[in-house]
Amino acid sequence: MDLSKELEIAITAVRKAATVCVAIRQSDACEDAISKKDRSPVTIADFGSQAVIIQELLKAFPGSNIVAEEDSNQMAELKGSVLGKDMVNAVAEVVPGANWESISEWISKGNYEGGPNGRFWTIDPIDGTKGFLRNEQYAVALALIEDGEPILGILGCPNYPVESFENAGAGVGMLFYAMKGKGAKQLQLAAEDVGESKSIAVGQVTSAAEANLCESVESGHSSHSESDRIKQVLGITQPSLRIDSQCKYAAVAKGDASIYLRLPTSESYREKIWDHAGGYIITREAGGVVTDVHGNALDFSKGQTLADNQGIVAAPASIHGEVLAAVKG
Ligand code: AMP
Ligand code: MG
Repeated sequence: MDLSKELEIAITAVRKAATVCVAIRQSDACEDAISKKDRSPVTIADFGSQAVIIQELLKAFPGSNIVAEEDSNQMAELKGSVLGKDMVNAVAEVVPGANWESISEWISKGNYEGGPNGRFWTIDPIDGTKGFLRNEQYAVALALIEDGEPILGILGCPNYPVESFENAGAGVGMLFYAMKGKGAKQLQLAAEDVGESKSIAVGQVTSAAEANLCESVESGHSSHSESDRIKQVLGITQPSLRIDSQCKYAAVAKGDASIYLRLPTSESYREKIWDHAGGYIITREAGGVVTDVHGNALDFSKGQTLADNQGIVAAPASIHGEVLAAVKG
């Protein structure tokens, strides 16, 4: 299967969308809104990012099915606001001629329901909204799913550090991608072309005790008390890396962390496919194993959610079994 055109278009789309997110994040109106604890900046950046990705995908692949997080009806209340104008300007910088109406139209094309048959794209225009608001880690996430399985994944991570999380302030942004059967790669978000990409691989750990764990900043998204218990069982002494978004999958894929745990905080919550499809294939192609907390394979064929799964356990193949046993208790 040749997905080189899909990959090229998807990388361009994610780069342009990340440019929009960074521009909105840096605008004065955004800073004002954040200091007022107003959630509209993230909403505006979400809309702008989703519009740019859908526009790029449909230009190259007309009629594509797309499952995206945002709904254009919610955009109306921001029309005419300073942030709304910032958003249109940021989108028009990367898609010349874009205006409020065309942006709204593109966003509305992301309403496919998903399912087991054929190809569709899935988009999380800003994964890790809390990280975006704190100007920490967030990701523009895009994946192509075919017959219920991710076959292409791209994560644009505007604040991901090139060197290490110890000096994360110096992050210039990274882009991670993987194609089924072709390995996982990274390049700087601002690199000129895909030729500059480097292969990545999960860390070489032979026992979970040497590992470091990566989890959500938000304890409402993944239980911190349960991860403390699991660390004790496994004998993990290194401090956990707490970051928002699918950057956690990237961290495991390139060995910045060994294990990503997402431990359910409620029995009823179901993960969204756009929160996992891109990161899942990148971690797997880098040599990781990704299951839910019961050890089941992730099933992307159930519509917009991973209806048959709960939580996430991602780790190098060498220790996944040991980690899963501790998770199961
Ligand atoms: P993270 O940045 O890893 O904390 O995850 C952010 C994602 O968590 C968001 O995109 C939400 O879709 C998702 N989310 C919201 N509520 C929950 C929940 N109760 N459990 C797990 N994930 C959630
Ligand atoms: Mg998300």
